Amino acid sequence: MAINNSIDTAQVLGQTEQHLHYISERVAIHQEMKLAFEALVSAAKKDAIELKIASGFRSFDRQLLLWNNKFSGKTTIKNMAGETISPEVLSPLELMHSILLYSALPGASRHHWGSDIDVYAPNLLEKDYQLQLEPWEYSEQGPLAKLTVWLNQYAHLYGFYFPYASYQGGVAAEPWHLSYLPLAQQFQQSFDTSLLAETLKHSSILGKAVILENLDDIATRYINNLCVAPTNVILESQ
Ligand SMILES: [Zn+2]
Repeated sequence: MAINNSIDTAQVLGQTEQHLHYISERVAIHQEMKLAFEALVSAAKKDAIELKIASGFRSFDRQLLLWNNKFSGKTTIKNMAGETISPEVLSPLELMHSILLYSALPGASRHHWGSDIDVYAPNLLEKDYQLQLEPWEYSEQGPLAKLTVWLNQYAHLYGFYFPYASYQGGVAAEPWHLSYLPLAQQFQQSFDTSLLAETLKHSSILGKAVILENLDDIATRYINNLCVAPTNVILESQ
């Protein structure tokens, strides 16, 4: 089902890999982002930053597993202070909001699109350091401070920006999450809440009732509540 020239609903929902280019065995990005990403990587390299992807494309099924593991308590959930939350003391609604702070609903993750990536720089980390993807690691005091400063200065020149630059009541700040605007804005426009509802209805997602009841609120507060891309983001490929 085509929505516009190139984006179909399966791509929006993470249910196809046809738009992907594999960088390594487990990391894939949108094929139309390949050149921009390579340009970003080589510019970073000139400034002694080895820019790598911790997480690129993620499928619907993978996101579903992450979600269900959090909802069932198999994976720990943390609040914004980094403290672990016990799911058993929460109502289904509270649990849902606690998960949404850091994890998108399957079908609503920007990682489905291949236009969004979580990045880090292994050469700035100690050997054997285990990346947590926690804000402090990217802060002024953290090991990846140099990467943060560099990306804030140059990422826009290659079409990238931070949709979760700061917390605004929905998703927590994610200083590692880069979005390639020329593609991401098309996917964002193609996103459709009723299609998501239909997809989740037929999935094995935990918390289905509370999610479907609150889906419009979820869309407003988390999915569409994004930091605005700076006006200087380059929209054409170099
Ligand atoms: Zn991310």
